Amino acid sequence: MINFDYLRVTTPKAAVDAIVTNRNAQWIAGGTNLIDLMKKGVVEPQKLVDITNLPLKEIKKTSNKFSIGAMALNSDVADNELVQKEYPLLSLALKAGASQQLRNMATVGGNMMQRTRCPYFYNIDMPCNKRQPGSGCGALKGFNRMHAIFGASDKCIAVHPSDMCVALVTLDATVVVTGPKGERRIPFQDFHRLPGELPQKDNTLERGELITAVELPDQPFKKNVHYLKIRDRSSYAFALVSVAVAIDMQNGKMNQVRLGMGGVAHKPWRLKEAENFLTGKAPSEPVFREAAKLAMRGAKGYGHNNFKLKLGPNTIVEALIKATATS
Ligand code: SF4
Repeated sequence: MINFDYLRVTTPKAAVDAIVTNRNAQWIAGGTNLIDLMKKGVVEPQKLVDITNLPLKEIKKTSNKFSIGAMALNSDVADNELVQKEYPLLSLALKAGASQQLRNMATVGGNMMQRTRCPYFYNIDMPCNKRQPGSGCGALKGFNRMHAIFGASDKCIAVHPSDMCVALVTLDATVVVTGPKGERRIPFQDFHRLPGELPQKDNTLERGELITAVELPDQPFKKNVHYLKIRDRSSYAFALVSVAVAIDMQNGKMNQVRLGMGGVAHKPWRLKEAENFLTGKAPSEPVFREAAKLAMRGAKGYGHNNFKLKLGPNTIVEALIKATATS
């Protein structure tokens, strides 16, 4: 690990200024991913700008939206009474992530900014286009059991590791950012990006843009929700496949449906075709199986991860059964 300068800031403007004026500076919040990356020499910032004291921890409901500050801790959001009442899917997904100790340190903004856990990315002796553009992708023909089945490119087949982000994309969240050009809002589904030709870019933020909050619209998804995460052990493991379900049941039919998937793409993956198919139908396993078939259209395995082509639809069906069991 290299030596670095350390600066603590207390306003978003100071945080943005510190990054804009130094290309080798990087923000640090909970540090639950960044410190690992620094220890392994994957990133080597000359200056760390500590943003944990920014006044961005509030979780609040206003007349037409719900706002979660970017510095709110994952554990505080998961245990927040309003979140559990209004957005139970988000609470479930957060509790499925990492471990209690990590959730006590990790922030909402940091969760969104975490890097892939592709082992080639973390091993500086291996080729990796995300870490070193142009060096090749070690996973493409290597050990790719955890890797993408949707939206990959021949430059990178990594997946985004977050559980929280799967819930947020499913719930149509919006990301609020502030930067040198002022404030802007990004639909959550446009925040993370597919690898394409530029796998080194995980998201659509511009240099110096700081996440300040995540907003959620008013929604009816309070009861029929489920987050199903399939992983190698029951805690402290990343998803092989995960599925987020939120359904509004009316008179025995699925009035509104939201479906998202994790562990399958470079970004949290939304299953809109399957949502449209399910909307207006009564829940049943045959209907769920048809929806899962639609959801898996275009999926492609890379060898070690071919099992996800079967695990994916089975997880979708199981999550839908669990979500509608209380209707
Ligand atoms: Fe690097 Fe992406 Fe290939 Fe992994 S999958 S080795 S992160 S380029």
